[in-house]
Amino acid sequence: MIDENRVEAGALSATGVPAERVLEEVRELRASDAPTHGGRLFAYVYDPAVPGLDELAAAAHRESAHVNGLDPTAFPSLLAMENALVGAAGRVLGAGPGTTAPDVVGSVTSGGTESLILAVKAARDAHPEIAAPRILVPSSAHAAFAKAAHYLRVALDVVPVSPDTLRPDPAAMAAAIRPETVLVACSAPSYAHGVVDPVAEIAAAAAEAGVRCHVDACFGGWTLPYLRRLGEPVPPFDFAVAGVTSISVDLHKYAYAPKGVSVLLHRDAALRAPQYFAYADWPGYTMINPVIASTRSGGPIAAAYATLRHLGDDGYLRLAAVTRDAVAGLADAVRAVDGLRLMAEPESTVVCFTATDGGPDLFVLVDELTARGWHTQPQLSYAGLPASVHLTVTAAVAPRVAEFGPDLTEAVAAATAAGPVRLPAELAALAGALTPGDLTPELVAGLAAGLGMGGEADGAPLPERMAVVNTLLDAAPPALRERLLVEFVGLLQRPTW
Ligand SMILES: *Cc1c(COP(=O)(O)O)cnc(C)c1O
Repeated sequence: MIDENRVEAGALSATGVPAERVLEEVRELRASDAPTHGGRLFAYVYDPAVPGLDELAAAAHRESAHVNGLDPTAFPSLLAMENALVGAAGRVLGAGPGTTAPDVVGSVTSGGTESLILAVKAARDAHPEIAAPRILVPSSAHAAFAKAAHYLRVALDVVPVSPDTLRPDPAAMAAAIRPETVLVACSAPSYAHGVVDPVAEIAAAAAEAGVRCHVDACFGGWTLPYLRRLGEPVPPFDFAVAGVTSISVDLHKYAYAPKGVSVLLHRDAALRAPQYFAYADWPGYTMINPVIASTRSGGPIAAAYATLRHLGDDGYLRLAAVTRDAVAGLADAVRAVDGLRLMAEPESTVVCFTATDGGPDLFVLVDELTARGWHTQPQLSYAGLPASVHLTVTAAVAPRVAEFGPDLTEAVAAATAAGPVRLPAELAALAGALTPGDLTPELVAGLAAGLGMGGEADGAPLPERMAVVNTLLDAAPPALRERLLVEFVGLLQRPTW
């Protein structure tokens, strides 16, 4: 019998699609994505290129996908795997029996942003007597601190980094601590430039003021310790540093676990306590959540567990060595090209470069690299720092390094020949003069169309070349960049009926 009321919209098929065909659909959709494997993508994805690892992680994910982290007593498997991940992260970061941080505890979160939000929440809620709490970060701190401050209604104080070292002056950080400051944070390393902040000095200043100090090692927490063991001069940044009260490390970055797993560590259980949310004042189950989500899939946790067990300490040491050599090769390639210079000497797994005076337009260069199959990340100019190109380097890049130099040389030549993007005069004028408050939906739609975005008509929601979009954004102050991107992305995120 056919139901007259049968619905079909977007993902909901009318009659049910056979499994094989559904998988084909997913694969067809995936075909337009950036390549997650192959060592030519320098952001978003962390690939160790270890044969069989994807299959192992997927199998572990499948075993636990329907297990719910909501209640550790109902699913002790997840409790055990989470405790094992926290123990591993603690060990890698200078904690555990026999260290100066034997009482470290932690939580498994969905990602770095959640880890940082929870570090800020714990710090805020440890001080209910402070009516208007504040956190203090260097300007190079990850945007997730600003998100945490925004979500939690905590004020954000920012100390600018030096344009030369890309690090904050510890004395300036110390001087910026106020009576209402509940957390001081720094990065090991910063995402944008890959430099390690002066953690020991900043942590000492925070301890002196009686304030918590969080080290955001979301990016580098799983590589810096191994790079140090390989003989690299990695400054102290972990629990060995007195005054560091919490550290975050993303397992879905350099622990090479599939997406959805980060660890937030606290030096002791008392520091973690205000992170929890418990609620018994309703007729349902008493809710006790260490993290933001309540129902949580066991899939990512089991996949991370399998990844760590399989790669092991030796595996991570080997991958760090491979990655270090790839970083050195890419940095050499940048140094060899006229018109480019490194933003900083690489001290972790980031290569970040900018253009010298008379060098190529970086946004055009990024498009030229994309056209040659290299997916890099453009970074807009900001507060005295020039626009730059960011490369997150993972082990999978190593076999490709020799191909990068010649392509970079070619791309720079092509970008130089093409010259800088010239914004249509009316767009340039708009970017300079608009305030976020001026943006009406009509104006944004007009801008988006002018930039070749969101046009359903030509079937491509994004322009082939992004240089014009990046140039427009670069010409706008941060508040306008934010509004424009919210509007642009909002245009993309519309239901398919
Ligand atoms: C990636 C990153 C974050 C945010 O992590 P997500 O997993 O993307 O939420 C925070 N801090 C640093 C230094 C990072 O590299």
